[in-house]
Amino acid sequence: MGVFGGVEAGGTKFVCGIGTGPDDLRLGWFPTSSPEATIASVAAFFCEQSGASVDAVGIGSFGPVDLDPASHTFGYITSTPKLEWQYYDLAGVLGRALNVPAGFDTDVNAAALGEARWGAARGISDFLYLTVGTGIGGGAVVHGEVVHGLVHPEMGHIRVPHDLAKDPYPGGCPYHQDCLEGLASGPTMEARWGVPARDLPVEHPGWELEARYLAFGLATWVCTLSPKRIVMGGGVMQQQHLFPMVRRELARVLNGYIRAAALMDEMEQYVVPPQLGNRAGVLGAIALAERAHRSSLSTAVVPGGSI
Ligand code: ADP
Ligand code: ZN
Repeated sequence: MGVFGGVEAGGTKFVCGIGTGPDDLRLGWFPTSSPEATIASVAAFFCEQSGASVDAVGIGSFGPVDLDPASHTFGYITSTPKLEWQYYDLAGVLGRALNVPAGFDTDVNAAALGEARWGAARGISDFLYLTVGTGIGGGAVVHGEVVHGLVHPEMGHIRVPHDLAKDPYPGGCPYHQDCLEGLASGPTMEARWGVPARDLPVEHPGWELEARYLAFGLATWVCTLSPKRIVMGGGVMQQQHLFPMVRRELARVLNGYIRAAALMDEMEQYVVPPQLGNRAGVLGAIALAERAHRSSLSTAVVPGGSI
């Protein structure tokens, strides 16, 4: 078995991990600066920590990213508002810098893979990983494969019912205003209530509203993807009291229509927190590296994919 490098590439920091899984993971992180400086720090970290080189690298990246293996910009970050990173060949440059195969996927798909391999979705062929933080994003695993499709799912940008009489906040998404992310991300909670979400008291009505919006999202994915479990992570879901509220709201929205025990008596095992905490993304990137290593005889850069 080889030693792998995992990178969770975020807009503010790059988290790097080296190892084969949670038990031997060693972590480091670097602020996201220019692509050249950031990649140099990441490559130096892996060389130093491995004593020589890793066998493959995996990257779960902020987006949007190009995941189409047939595209000439496969492995690139594409139209990000971060100008220096626009149309940047992240997987290609890092793979070449380390001279190893590179696996590549979105940050949230990587987190889904991490939870599938070592965390809350072990052994589950169909599930959803949702992050509720600065943005809202989802990674769907269907039949053991991460869904990619045309680009990649953008689950945070679905529309949810918005009763302006009850919630006059217009929404904060620059593209859609009151999509799910525009109504329920961490920063939109702060914009609506005037205090950071982490400082909102447990009894504040803002949490009921938050649970309701998130449950509308979950109900949509329960009806469209039929996941067997939903893992909810990200900064906002650090608020453990949200879990029972989201489960209750989900049951209310579905109204008994889907006759599955998981959605009735076993809701506590259905909507769950991640088991890998904030290491899900970087561990998922290690899983991507492992996969790239396995495929490296036939191709140098491979898309992320199955568990
Ligand atoms: P990112 O989405 O940027 O990768 P996070 O998932 O940590 O990172 O999300 C950060 C956002 O989550 C913050 O902007 C804040 O709105 C919210 N947040 C972070 N920690 C908490 C907390 N303990 N309780 C509620 N909200 C939080
Ligand atoms: Zn939107």
